[in-house]
This record gives sequence, structure tokens and C-alpha cells, in this order.
Amino acid sequence: MLSISYTNLQLDRGGDYRKDLVWIKSRWQHPEARVIPMWQDKSPMVNSDLQSRALILTASLVSSHIEDWQQSVYLGEDDRGPIFAVGFEQATEPDLPFADAEASWTDLRHIGWMLDHQEAALLAFARGMIYWNRHHLFCGSCGHPTNSEQGGHVRRCSNENCGRVHFPRTDPAVIMLVEDRSDTGNPRCLLARNARFPFKMMSTLAGFVDPMESLEETVAREVFEESGIRVDQVTYQASQPWPFPSSIMLGFRARATSFDIKVDGIEIEEAHWFTPAQLSDFGEWGDEDDHYSLPRRDSIARYLIDDWIREVS
Ligand SMILES: [Zn+2]
Repeated sequence: MLSISYTNLQLDRGGDYRKDLVWIKSRWQHPEARVIPMWQDKSPMVNSDLQSRALILTASLVSSHIEDWQQSVYLGEDDRGPIFAVGFEQATEPDLPFADAEASWTDLRHIGWMLDHQEAALLAFARGMIYWNRHHLFCGSCGHPTNSEQGGHVRRCSNENCGRVHFPRTDPAVIMLVEDRSDTGNPRCLLARNARFPFKMMSTLAGFVDPMESLEETVAREVFEESGIRVDQVTYQASQPWPFPSSIMLGFRARATSFDIKVDGIEIEEAHWFTPAQLSDFGEWGDEDDHYSLPRRDSIARYLIDDWIREVS
């Protein structure tokens, strides 16, 4: 079983307890309480060429740099104790006394694949929760300010005539490996290059779920819109939380029933069928030469491709 980045976070999220403000406060005051600071979707990390690690601070240190402990988000408990996230949203860099002078504010999106699996999943959770809170400071119904409740997992409208309760949202997106099995001895998969992709990366197709659409319908619609290929046999494979900023990627495999590729040349620059042998010549994400490269190792796109290669090789 290949492991998928940002999944299997070993954390008790305390869903049954975090409604109790007194209990949450006791967790903040716990001697082992730790905090992941976030600023402009970044957190402090110590980075080298091949490895990164998160710098997680003590709650007692962070306390002296925030006005109110209730601006923290309670993430949960691991075997060392409680963990919180705190968003610093001022424009200039927060004046936090990092114990490790090597640390710098870094976006998980850029270095997630170099982190320890648990650390990456924890930072993804922190990034997603701080992002949601930051973008729901005002009620979408009446425009009044909202207040944080339940350790930052709920925001309630302060207008007593409204009082609407807002919950963290996740935007579903599908991502699919389309395969051509018409020649059973020579399977191929469809990969495409989005105009936004860096380098010469080729990846699986993906897209957001429209309102009132089944996931299978989204897969078929997106594949046709982006490549002109018709599919059936849409089967679920795996999922990945994707906190950039607030998605869950739902991974599928689909079987092509037509094979002539048509791309718009704008959103999708190119798309081709590839055999496993051709894929074995691809470079790694980040290679800046002129060869095609595979998606990042922390993406579910890469998981879907690697899983397919293993199965058909
Ligand atoms: Zn309201």
C-alpha cells in the first residue's frame, strides 16, 4: 500500500470535548501545550536542500505574543499533549522569538514532500483551519463579525437577529487516472499539462465538483472538457486532504471509451497517452531540464500514477 501525504494524522481531535471552553482553556494551560504559528499561510520551518522540519513553539511562549488565547485553534492531542494553531495576520512578519535561528516562514505547499509524514499532516490541518477562520471573520448572511467557538471549529454570527453558525468547509475536487485498456497487452494512461504547471510536469486530469453533480458525473464531464475523451467504469481509488487552500481530492480511475485527444491549448496545453515504459523515462517534479516530469511525490496524482504503473507492469 502506497501512503498518501497529509492522511493518517495520529491525533485525537477532541470533538466531544472542545465545546467546553473551560476544558479547552485547561489544554492551553497544559505544561506540554504546543502551538503551530501561521502567518500568511506559512509556518516556521528549518529547511535544508533535502529535508525540512517544522518549528513548533510552546503555548506559554506564544501567549505573550497574542492578545487572547481564544484566538487559537485547538487541533487535538498527540502522545505528548495538546496542540494548537495560532494565526498571525498582520502584514509584517510576526515578532516571534524562534529558539532556532535557522527557521523561516515557509509554505507547506512548497516543501510538504520533504517533511515527516505525521508532521506534514499536522501542518496541513493547522493551515486549513487557520485559513478557514481567517476567511470567515464576517457572517456570509448578514455581514456582522463572527466569534470563534469550540476551539476554532465553529464561528457564530454576533448579530443576535441572525446568529448563524458557520462550520469549516471543504471543497470536493475529483482527480482521475484515465486508462486505455482497448489493447490489453499495451495499456496506456492519459496525462496532461495544465498551463499553470511548473516545469514540464504531466499529471492526471482534475476538477472541482459542480453543485448537484455526482462524483462519477464530475469525472466524466471534466475528462471530456479537458481532453475530449469519453469515459465509463469510474471507480473510486483513494482520497487526500489538500489544504491549498481547502479541498479534498477524491481519486478515481476511469476507462476510456474514445481515444482521440482534443485540448483547448489554453487551460490544457497538451495531453497524451503514455505507456508504463514511457513513464519510466519521466523525470522528477522540480527537474528543470526539458524532459517530462511526474507530479510531486506528496500528491494523490502521483499516487494514482504509481499505483497504475505497479498494476499494469
Ligand atoms: Zn449573520
